[in-house]
Amino acid sequence: MPLLVMKFGGTSVADLARIENAAEKVRREVERGYDVIVIVSAMSGKTNELVSWVEQTSKLYDAREYDAVVASGENISAGLMALRLQEMGVPARSWQGWQVPINTTSAHGSARFVSIPRDHLDAKFAEGFKVAVVAGFQGLSPEGRVTTLGRGGSDTTAVAFAAAFGAERCDIYTDVDGVYTTDPRITEKARKLDRIAFEEMLELASLGAKVLQTRSVELAMRYKVRLRVLSSFEDTDENSGTLVCDEEEIMESKVVSGVAYSRDEAKITLVTIEDRPGIAAAIFGPLAEAGVNVDMIVQNVSEKHMDGSTRAATDMTFSCPTNQVARAKKAMEDAAAAGSIRYADLIVDTDVAKVSVVGIGMRSHAGVAARMFDALAAENINIKVIGTSEIKISVLIDRKYMELAVQALHGVFELDKA
Ligand code: ASP
Ligand code: MG
Repeated sequence: MPLLVMKFGGTSVADLARIENAAEKVRREVERGYDVIVIVSAMSGKTNELVSWVEQTSKLYDAREYDAVVASGENISAGLMALRLQEMGVPARSWQGWQVPINTTSAHGSARFVSIPRDHLDAKFAEGFKVAVVAGFQGLSPEGRVTTLGRGGSDTTAVAFAAAFGAERCDIYTDVDGVYTTDPRITEKARKLDRIAFEEMLELASLGAKVLQTRSVELAMRYKVRLRVLSSFEDTDENSGTLVCDEEEIMESKVVSGVAYSRDEAKITLVTIEDRPGIAAAIFGPLAEAGVNVDMIVQNVSEKHMDGSTRAATDMTFSCPTNQVARAKKAMEDAAAAGSIRYADLIVDTDVAKVSVVGIGMRSHAGVAARMFDALAAENINIKVIGTSEIKISVLIDRKYMELAVQALHGVFELDKA
């Protein structure tokens, strides 16, 4: 029997009517001849409520009990979905993570998959069940306790099942109808993409396009699971939504496929540091230890001389999420106090945003950066930091120009045109 994985997010199972609507979509796939593994999230808002109950009960909570509480939201959705399917005459049964079992590490709150043995569910399908409804976001530790995978983890559960069971596709039903060239709230010219390559999706996901959990895309890329993002609120068929797939499956691709942004960026500059071997290690070592996620790094040319001596000096700039600035600053001040680095000044700029263009076509096309910088120049937007990878160019700019920059780049790369 061909097998599909269908995942329904929180808004798609938000109440009994929506569960019925989702179940109807499952029933249709069963009628088309598929065995289906359904992965469900908790009803929308439920996980937040459970997390807050834990935090109100215990400030320094035991992570094992956090997982015991927080995993329960998915159990409710799974049982209700199985019941609704049974009411529709579809042979269905629900499973919690430990019953499958979904074996994970014991990192409570952010566990990782270890294995998903197939034998139990395979036997159930052989017995005649058409649908296995599995609670997303949860697993079982080697110690035999319930774990959770980190917020948004049901996407990753779905991809893991698709990989383990060799599913034809993994359909992610959500409240948007696909992946867009950019955020439609920033420009109405944003266009839904029919297809996008894993690597592009990964860049877009980690750059702030919140459609899929980043880990789920990583996993899909590793196991070549074809992922489809589509709306549970619309009538859908096999051509709906956006297919996230191997780049070989994308016939014609533009040089740039999408424009992503991230509002919560900060830029930190260490002014006049020694330019010597080991200085970058002396800066970024302590930042890593402090848990700061450094993103872009720029080191200036060596020009000035420190304290009038002949030793060379430079400036070092890096970016990190706004909420890590205090930690980053403290790590630098501590390093200076310990004598491992010296700087004349530490300048923090929290009014920046990152805007990026992403596309696998960049690998084989020159001039993308020049076009990007031209478009920003035409809007009089100053670029503060530039970072590049093989399929992405990012700039840090003043946050107040973020929307304008996204619109300008969307236009110059003609993303509104199919
Ligand atoms: N319910 C979990 C969360 O809200 C997992 C998920 O929905 O993906 O983070
Ligand atoms: Mg989600």
